[in-house]
Amino acid sequence: MPRRNPLKSYVGRVPNPISPQTRAAHARIRGADVTVSVCPYCAVGCSQLIYSKDGKIVDIEGNYESPINGGTLCPKGAATFGLLQSPSRVTTVKYRAPYGDRWEERPLDWAMERIAQRLKETRDATYEETDPEGRTVNRTLGIGHFGGATLDNEENYLIKKLFTAGLGIVAVENQARI
Ligand code: SF4
Repeated sequence: MPRRNPLKSYVGRVPNPISPQTRAAHARIRGADVTVSVCPYCAVGCSQLIYSKDGKIVDIEGNYESPINGGTLCPKGAATFGLLQSPSRVTTVKYRAPYGDRWEERPLDWAMERIAQRLKETRDATYEETDPEGRTVNRTLGIGHFGGATLDNEENYLIKKLFTAGLGIVAVENQARI
């Protein structure tokens, strides 16, 4: 014996359960421009889709066409959008003077100039063409560079080129193995 459809008696008698607001709602990525990029965090190299409207990023998700991640991102990669949008994100230069006990804000131009001067002074003072055994090394052990995982591929490429081949720095390290 066929079972009775319990909803049948309501058809035509109840108001439409979908509100106009719900009908008007849509994904925030609708109509956005899409740029393919790479997750900045680790050497897996998951592909990301960056959605933007009027030059402002509105969302980031995994690229479903990538053979590496197939549309997925791990929790860290999935938080990339949050990293960009966070009000806690530091976007100005912070400087702590020698023996200082607090951070001061400085202009970016001032910081870049100071870093360049210090780098030159230190390299000139510590550069070695040969080691104590007379072997050619062309290096400085007086400077190190430590990069963060939010450096992108292009930045890491330039850092490697400039600091090792260009300046002879040996201690170049980065959390990401890109
Ligand atoms: S951090 Fe996660 S999402 Fe980013 S590349 Fe590595 S595995 Fe992929």
